Amino acid sequence: MRRAACVIGAGPNGLAAAIVLAQAGLHVDVLEAESTPGGAARTMELTLPGFLHDFGSAVHPLAAGSPFFASLPLQNHGLEWIHSPAPVAHPLDDGTAVVLERDLNAAKAALGEDGKAWVNLVQPFAEHWREFAPEVLRPVLSIPKHPFLLAQFGMNAFLSAKAIAHGFRSERTRALFAGLAAHSFLALDEPLSGAFGLLLAITAHSVGWPVPRGGAQAITKALCGHLSTLGGEIKTSSRVESLADLSGYDVVLCDVTPRQLLTIGGDRLSASYKRQLSKFQYGPGVFKVDYALSAPIPWKAADCLRAATVHIGGSFDDIAVSEKAMRRSQHAERPFVLLSQPTLFDPSRAPAGKHIAWAYCHVPNGSTVDMLPRVEAQIERFAPGFSEIVLARRVFSPVELQAMDANLIGGDIVGGAMDLRQFLFRPTVRGYATSARDVYICSASTPPGGGVHGMCGYHAARKALARLSLKR
Ligand SMILES: Cc1cc2nc3c(=O)[nH]c(=O)nc-3n(C[C@H](O)[C@H](O)[C@H](O)COP(=O)(O)OP(=O)(O)OC[C@H]3O[C@@H](n4cnc5c(N)ncnc54)[C@H](O)[C@@H]3O)c2cc1C
Repeated sequence: MRRAACVIGAGPNGLAAAIVLAQAGLHVDVLEAESTPGGAARTMELTLPGFLHDFGSAVHPLAAGSPFFASLPLQNHGLEWIHSPAPVAHPLDDGTAVVLERDLNAAKAALGEDGKAWVNLVQPFAEHWREFAPEVLRPVLSIPKHPFLLAQFGMNAFLSAKAIAHGFRSERTRALFAGLAAHSFLALDEPLSGAFGLLLAITAHSVGWPVPRGGAQAITKALCGHLSTLGGEIKTSSRVESLADLSGYDVVLCDVTPRQLLTIGGDRLSASYKRQLSKFQYGPGVFKVDYALSAPIPWKAADCLRAATVHIGGSFDDIAVSEKAMRRSQHAERPFVLLSQPTLFDPSRAPAGKHIAWAYCHVPNGSTVDMLPRVEAQIERFAPGFSEIVLARRVFSPVELQAMDANLIGGDIVGGAMDLRQFLFRPTVRGYATSARDVYICSASTPPGGGVHGMCGYHAARKALARLSLKR
């Protein structure tokens, strides 16, 4: 008889897991709580008609560089990457911007006195992304296929962003690196914060920081389209309240975080496993704003119009203060803001001549503080007159984010903190496996963690398949 699998949750990791299982010949049902699949990779009219905003992910270096996604014919299902001329821009208070060029030689020239140091840091990995990506996008405690490459990365990866930035002479390069490292949700003097900065710098040169034409939903649509060619079925508006309600499946993969697994697991999970799960730490949340705009953002530094992503926070020290506040469960007065302006490069997402922007800052988990004035003050700092082009805005507090996607616990967008313990063991020492032989967890709360890359789902499904064949 044909084996059957159930995947709970149609986020990028649930869909990746479903595809791996369907590729192996299993019948796969995906049960999704919301009315549309995609989880934090969905695009919606969140402000005005005709303005297509990304509810969650917007910029996709890890999707474009995902070894698993690269193995799928996603372009046949309409996925098209758009690269802005530069991956990221970082405006400064003097009215200029540091721009990270995608081409390494151009980056070397643009970064001047730090150009050589930058190239030395990233070139070995950017030039070997195909070998490097599978090594970093999987559980840390695995046997590497390219031990020298990984060891070379590891030498810097455990450093803090501050330690790495000290290697640069110019404040401009330090500010640029702070913006990259601040994606880690760690303070910039914490170990591992440097690794995130490095990884994002490497992706900027190897695969770029593209946006999908039409928004993040295009990734979801392509994954769903491919899954359906393999016979997989997605049932939306189907929230799973208990694993006990599922029957007839040989294996169940859960694209949920530990807190939800505890709720739906019931007596399918052992008491000791539940104890381990309950120790899982969630990270800070985000406060997000989507804008419908009448014109492009009036940046003081026109260079900011060359990049789909803009890091707003000023100097290394300014960003360090912001991220330190977040780690102390405080709200930064001048928060680091990540901003995306996709319609400069993909006009299909707004009415003719109009634009959208997507912006968020880091806040303590579950925060209820209205950060809108502070977010907009930061944008105005580098783009005076911004508020005059706002046609409409939609604010998402951490609680509102979680209401739209149950995995975003307290506004944590990456499935749990990435401290040293959860970097090594995520969500527990069992990794993707649980105490029930036929139940696995496959969300961003497993290795390699947050981001749209599908690698959590891919590895979890492979683990499940290996066990299924052992059972034969
Ligand atoms: C505001 C924001 C900005 C982001 N920016 C980026 C970015 O620019 N680039 C990037 O790469 N990543 C970004 N991310 C992170 C990225 O979107 C996530 O890490 C990624 O979506 C995780 O995928 P997932 O499948 O693990 O979980 P999710 O995408 O959260 O999907 C989980 C799915 O499971 C469903 N579900 C949960 N519980 C149940 C249940 N009981 N029954 C049925 N279904 C259930 C949910 O409805 C959801 O559809 C961002 C996220 C957010 C929210």
